[in-house]
Amino acid sequence: MPLNCEIIAVGTELLLGGIANTNARDISQGLAEAGIHCYYHTTVGDNPARLRGALLAAQKRADIIITTGGLGPTYDDITKQVVCETFGIPLELHGETWARITGYFDKIGRPATENNRRQALIPKGGEVFANDWGTAPGCGFRAGDTHIFMLPGPPKECRPMFEQRLLPLLKAMSPETIVSRQLRVFGMGESSAEDKLRPLMERLINPTLAPYAKEGEVALRVTASAPSEEEALRLIAPVEEEVKALLGGVVYGTDDDSLASVTLELLRREGASLAAAESCTGGIIASRLTGVPGASEVFMGGVVAYTREMKVNVLGVPEDVMDTHGVVSQEVALAMARGVCAVTGASLGLGVTGLAGPDGDGSPVPIGIVCIALYDSRDGTQTAQTRNFGDGRERVRLMASMTALDMARRKLLG
Ligand code: ATP
Ligand code: MG
Repeated sequence: MPLNCEIIAVGTELLLGGIANTNARDISQGLAEAGIHCYYHTTVGDNPARLRGALLAAQKRADIIITTGGLGPTYDDITKQVVCETFGIPLELHGETWARITGYFDKIGRPATENNRRQALIPKGGEVFANDWGTAPGCGFRAGDTHIFMLPGPPKECRPMFEQRLLPLLKAMSPETIVSRQLRVFGMGESSAEDKLRPLMERLINPTLAPYAKEGEVALRVTASAPSEEEALRLIAPVEEEVKALLGGVVYGTDDDSLASVTLELLRREGASLAAAESCTGGIIASRLTGVPGASEVFMGGVVAYTREMKVNVLGVPEDVMDTHGVVSQEVALAMARGVCAVTGASLGLGVTGLAGPDGDGSPVPIGIVCIALYDSRDGTQTAQTRNFGDGRERVRLMASMTALDMARRKLLG
């Protein structure tokens, strides 16, 4: 049976909206890694009665309780006192911590106060997590079947203390580990993907499969729980294959892959190179490619040809092609792709021309229309497509650049 943990964030500031509960997020991510379920995030103000109520509710439904906040020296820092009273554990002075705190005050030349002494009080017989990032130590103890841990509120103390001191302990306690793998999908919406995967999703128990929308694309998360990482990966592998078989070529990669990184990898494998001639995307394609380390081996460069003159003078797009078909046309996109191959010597050239809006500038073409072309200078083959990415300037530009990269990727896959 996996363990389950409840996180109780203590702080009136959180309830008033002054700060976001990032500690709960950080801790939850670690719990998932440790194979510990988290069913409740509770937030409660600096109020003894309500904190006590939250602790008693959590005790009924969780194996582990982690509190954050309220370990400091001021009057509103009540967590340790209330937790220990609630579970009937006395507090006692922890010599090592007290020496640390007085040492700190000696160094800054100020006397430690009675309030500071309170920070060195630790639940009797419990665990102490030294605070290398601030003053208040964390602590924990066991009461019956429940494990209770208290961490400081400031994220720059809470996070490292959790990761370095508490998480290793939790991992050792947990009989399970949870492993997730993401499959990256471009060219199919979240609902279509879900539609195709529905029977599989309903059948699966461990691993589970869940789609979620990312910027311009969809990620499918396969999550397995098992006693070891190897075993979890063994459970994930056949599901990954099944998803690929159901969705086909729209699955372009996993985890940290991006359309740019996958395209670059394929170029390397093929011994090919790429260049981009961009109008409405204004260099986004080049930026995405150059954002991947090592791109220079296979990405030759790009031309942002925004004006008619640039298209003619730099890329050699014939004037009459623009006059006959319009600047936003597959013919112009193809001429741009050919032009950028000629300028850079790349084996593959992308050309993108479109209308990102929000104003039409008197163009006969509707806003959101983008023409994308790919030219292969090795054999002279070319393809072009016209897409309508709707409105929203940034979205049109993003979708156009991703679609162009995907065209190159699919061409390289053959
Ligand atoms: P201190 O010794 O600084 O008083 P503390 O353990 O008593 O630490 P709190 O007084 O509750 O913690 O909170 C200190 C600060 O930490 C808050 O002002 C806030 O900026 C941040 N903080 C507290 N709880 C959270 C949380 N759950 N998520 C993110 N930040 C938090
Ligand atoms: Mg405080």
